Amino acid sequence: MSDVKNPKVRFAPSPTGQLHLGSARTALFNYLYAKHHDGTFYLRIEDTDKARSKQEYVEQICSSLEWLGIKWDGEPLFQSTRLNEYHDVVLTLLENNSAYRCFCSKDALETARVGGSYQYPGTCRNLSEEDIKLHMNSGEGFVVRLRVPEGETHFDDMIYGAVHVKHEEIDDFIIARSDGQPTYNLVVVVDDHEMEITHIIRGEDHISNTPKQILIYTAMGYAVPKFAHLPMILGQDKKRLSKRHGAPGVQEFKNEGYLPDALLNYLALLGWNPGSDEEIFTLDELIALFEMSHVHKKSAVYDEQKLSWISGQHMVRLGTAKILEGIHAINADWGQGFETNYLYAILEQLKQRSKSLRDFIDQSSYFFTDPQSYDEKSSRKNWKNVATSQIINVYKKRLESIEQWDANVIESTLRMTAEENDISAGKLIHPTRLALSGVSNGPSLFILMAILGKDVCIRRLNKALEIFPLQS
Ligand code: GLU
Repeated sequence: MSDVKNPKVRFAPSPTGQLHLGSARTALFNYLYAKHHDGTFYLRIEDTDKARSKQEYVEQICSSLEWLGIKWDGEPLFQSTRLNEYHDVVLTLLENNSAYRCFCSKDALETARVGGSYQYPGTCRNLSEEDIKLHMNSGEGFVVRLRVPEGETHFDDMIYGAVHVKHEEIDDFIIARSDGQPTYNLVVVVDDHEMEITHIIRGEDHISNTPKQILIYTAMGYAVPKFAHLPMILGQDKKRLSKRHGAPGVQEFKNEGYLPDALLNYLALLGWNPGSDEEIFTLDELIALFEMSHVHKKSAVYDEQKLSWISGQHMVRLGTAKILEGIHAINADWGQGFETNYLYAILEQLKQRSKSLRDFIDQSSYFFTDPQSYDEKSSRKNWKNVATSQIINVYKKRLESIEQWDANVIESTLRMTAEENDISAGKLIHPTRLALSGVSNGPSLFILMAILGKDVCIRRLNKALEIFPLQS
């Protein structure tokens, strides 16, 4: 057990797009860390980029977090309301000589570029008071740069271990732009200090910002928090996960009827495991188990199949009544006019095969209406000729005489028919499934037939006997 008590953490999304999987994972790990250690989890909206930040994304991010069950403490903090505070800190840094005004024009800086790599040549680092006044009086624009001292910065990342960076590798970076706007590195430090954040848990893509931020903490005399940089999430091609990989945003998972617990469970496994083989967890279990020491350095790979499997496992655990409730929340008409027991029987059969509530809807139409079309490939493969029609006809006749319509009797009748006619059971199973459902896969055929009922099965077999074999 670690001795961390009541940490304060934050999730700090920029509302320039919807909540994607990587950010959701960052939010989750912050949340788990806070809740595991009786801490506080804040939400901060980093909306200083006016051109790219949108209110609709703020709403989408908040509703995605709520849907996932990641609850933030207190009110969200909006950076756009804190421009005065940032400005004051820039002035303090200028006053205590930790920062300076840089009047270099873009063109002048461009000429100073050596090859591909760029370092600010320090032109304005040591301007005299008089020079500064002259520049200012002539109305020249300026940026504010941090005066990076000689030496090196190091920190112990909770995941990556010791990180050392020599200051000669860090430019005198900009903390306020020529329009007065503070930069990301500045505002993050000001807010994390103001919010008394103790642990900064964020994506590995920010690790190169951390030494710069530590320099600002030090220049302001602020206590430096602890840092944990979470491993990258990659696509199957080992490139950074992006839309290109078909990984939808949280909103789409919600629209598709994924279970929030399932998505959370999957996200938790992107870079963490509990130190055992167990893989299915509720949010409360994750809170109880989460330890930063079990977060890996190695990049995680987004695996859609694994997500589907985990989703299926959560579906099974959810229970049929709740599944029906969830389906009706996205489509109130589903199964209308059919008895609840009939709907339950369908859901029982489909839940192993469904990763989302929408999957149930998409896979279940033949339980309610006769097939309107038949899978082309299966038609050609499984109902090739009149020999198939003849044997299906024999089976159908036998089905007609079954009195006790249940899966076992339906199955033994099929197997007997196959045996007597010296064919494999598959030669009957595949065309029968095609005739009854129009598709080539689904739950156990015999259970499917038992659920559909005798009349429906016979009617559909008769219709298929009229259509097949297809004329080529
Ligand atoms: N707004 C930053 C992002 O979305 C957050 C960076 C941080 O957590 O410090 O990447």
